Amino acid sequence: MEYPFNEDQLAFREHLSRWVDERLIPRAEELDETSEFARDLFEELGELGYLGTKYPEEYGGAGIEEKYVYYTMLCEELARGSMGFAATVAMHGSAASHMLFEDGTEEQKQKYLVPALKGKMVCAFAITEPQAGSDAANIRTRADRTDDGYVINGSKIFISNSINADFITVVAKVGDGKGAKGMALFLVDTKTPGFSVGRKIEKFTTYCSDTGELFFADMKVPFDCRLGGEDSDFKSAYRMLTVDRIITAAIALGNARAAYDAAFEYAKEREQFGRTIGSFQAVQFKLVDMLATFEQAHLYTYHTAAMADRGEDVTKEAAIAKIVAGDGGCEICQKALNIFGGYGLTMEYPAQRYLRDSFFPLIGGGTSDIMRLLTAKRMGL
Ligand SMILES: Cc1cc2nc3c(=O)[nH]c(=O)nc-3n(C[C@H](O)[C@H](O)[C@H](O)COP(=O)(O)OP(=O)(O)OC[C@H]3O[C@@H](n4cnc5c(N)ncnc54)[C@H](O)[C@@H]3O)c2cc1C
Repeated sequence: MEYPFNEDQLAFREHLSRWVDERLIPRAEELDETSEFARDLFEELGELGYLGTKYPEEYGGAGIEEKYVYYTMLCEELARGSMGFAATVAMHGSAASHMLFEDGTEEQKQKYLVPALKGKMVCAFAITEPQAGSDAANIRTRADRTDDGYVINGSKIFISNSINADFITVVAKVGDGKGAKGMALFLVDTKTPGFSVGRKIEKFTTYCSDTGELFFADMKVPFDCRLGGEDSDFKSAYRMLTVDRIITAAIALGNARAAYDAAFEYAKEREQFGRTIGSFQAVQFKLVDMLATFEQAHLYTYHTAAMADRGEDVTKEAAIAKIVAGDGGCEICQKALNIFGGYGLTMEYPAQRYLRDSFFPLIGGGTSDIMRLLTAKRMGL
């Protein structure tokens, strides 16, 4: 069973799916082995117009009304090819560029958003700090107001796209306000004096999506780098991050789909005891459970994306989508690895990559338990 996509949406997916099969999947193993960011493929996606899926035509975007359904499709399909590559695109096109689109000046949009949607610039979003992950309101990076702008001091960790970013939307404390009132977003060009990138963090998942540290040492930025203006706070950015959880669910779905497809094909070919392993009930049950988990998560995620397109509050639904697609994706990948037997543990088959990558959505964008906390609050508990 599938979400009732309309004809245009199906055509979009078919076109994109062909690109993923022809351009991304043949490179997925190499990207994983080298941990390289595929800038050429990223630029190609920009030229094809996919990076602008969520944005209006005036900035080079696609001008699509149901932007979340389409963006979910984009991220799911890319993750079917490579979750690492999809994570790069997802971070670039969601929180990072969206804040600029919502709150940037026209000049900033022309300078940064337009090239970002063409694939000529890469962007990142930075809130997490060494002592403030789930407890994001506890960040210490400060932006202090001076006569001619702000001076930013502090550091960030676990920032996706940090090594390759041309600009970053950075969350910092301002003034004396508490919680969201005392936090604001700044557009930071990575060429700004006082900005530096620290180490690239080695991790066991999504190798080709770089994750790193950022440092700000007396970094001066003009007033208009405060996105949303002098009175802005973190509320609109928080709403955006809420909706972005659908995108993390989407990449979990794409990776799980790849694991399911690979295991299904393998079960039809691999023979033991004179029969294909797919004829054994134990293997069939695993495949059925994988499909059942996938379809539930898929339907739930797209319904949530459609709600977001209708402008509805999806705080609870996006958190649940991230739980069901994230945790479900991980279970699917574990079962897939099991179906591959000993070969599943080798680097010659992609089952290990699907399982390694399936852990990213459990943490990125907020952990599954933080999603449960948010949901419990919305349930009135
Ligand atoms: C690969 C990767 C990419 C990332 N990309 C970005 C990025 O681009 N930009 C960015 O800003 N951040 C990014 N992050 C950071 C990510 O959002 C944080 O890692 C995440 O929010 C968790 O924070 P933490 O790692 O500090 O864990 P902690 O907050 O220390 O949590 C540790 C454990 O404690 C649990 N826990 C914490 N508080 C509670 C509570 N109140 N109740 C119950 N359990 C709790 C958590 O669920 C978790 O199991 C990325 C992280 C990774 C791993």
